[in-house]
Amino acid sequence: MSASKKIKLEEKTSVCGFIQHVSPIKTSRTNNKYFNATVQVQRDTFKKVACFDVMKHSTLVEASQARTPLKLTDVQIVPSRLDSAKTEVLVNYKSRVEVSRQLSFSYQKSTEDDHDSAGEKFKTLKEVQNTPEFNKVAVEVKILSAKEVSVQIVRELPIQKQEVIVGDSTATMKLTLWDEMVTKLEIGKSYRLNQLSTRLFQNVKTITATKATSIESIDDLVNCLQAPEDNDVIEKEGKITQVGLVMHFSCEMCKGKVALPDDDSKFIRCPSCKMKMAKETLQKSMNGTLCFSYGYQKVKLSIFSSTLFTMCIANHLSVDNAENIEDFLLSNSFRVAYSNETKNVQNIVHLTNVAGVNQ
Ligand SMILES: [Zn+2]
Repeated sequence: MSASKKIKLEEKTSVCGFIQHVSPIKTSRTNNKYFNATVQVQRDTFKKVACFDVMKHSTLVEASQARTPLKLTDVQIVPSRLDSAKTEVLVNYKSRVEVSRQLSFSYQKSTEDDHDSAGEKFKTLKEVQNTPEFNKVAVEVKILSAKEVSVQIVRELPIQKQEVIVGDSTATMKLTLWDEMVTKLEIGKSYRLNQLSTRLFQNVKTITATKATSIESIDDLVNCLQAPEDNDVIEKEGKITQVGLVMHFSCEMCKGKVALPDDDSKFIRCPSCKMKMAKETLQKSMNGTLCFSYGYQKVKLSIFSSTLFTMCIANHLSVDNAENIEDFLLSNSFRVAYSNETKNVQNIVHLTNVAGVNQ
């Protein structure tokens, strides 16, 4: 490609038209968040859109549903990665999205069969397991079992969390519920759950409730799979002999990892989505490895945020200082429940807390 042509291709331009077929937000192999859409730019001409600013997702979904004509300014027209004879519209965080006052053509639905259609889709659990992270889904499931309510820290505040196992005729999965939804679902009952979001947690696909999640009771689902037996949990009392914990911060908008600088600046820019934000809005997580010793046995275990934060709150420990938490773990005796299969700690209780009824 000649230099002059390259410059021309990278020139900023604007596009007017009707947005259609907005996909869910996806994660690229390089870990960037993006979504696709189609834009009708003439009576019967359509262009593919790739948008790397996920903050624009809801605007484009709304415009697509309402058939609002849009003007996209400061976009780039580049050769399509799928078909180099065609061009594609690149939208990023610098691009502007406005309502276009008038178009010389009327709305016409793109005839292409686009399976990445807007918003959430009703799926079986088997299909949900094959859906990438951070996609909205709706499911019809039976509640098979529920774990105890635990605590997690989000934006400095403890919030309640509960994990339940849900099933349909195709699979069973872990569903995470938050605050007001905790204990709302009854074991053995069937529900339609709208606006759940997919996550990958400890390498297992799970679903989580969101602020928009709604619950409808439905008729009892038949032919549900059984919950997997939870018989691999080992619970022992002992001491922690070695421990290493690491604190991570991630961007609330795009979930990308953010490294905290040592200086005392108030704000920080996310390297993934390029948004600037107050440090305290970053989501905090902590995980690590510990050696747990009981009797003559010693086992190396992994421990994750929700378990650690639940223990910190029960023991009035600050969750901000990994060193202090490590010291606490090394200085006391604990009852530890862990999965023999995954070697993940599921619950850890400070023993003098259990016995110490009298002050
Ligand atoms: Zn971000």
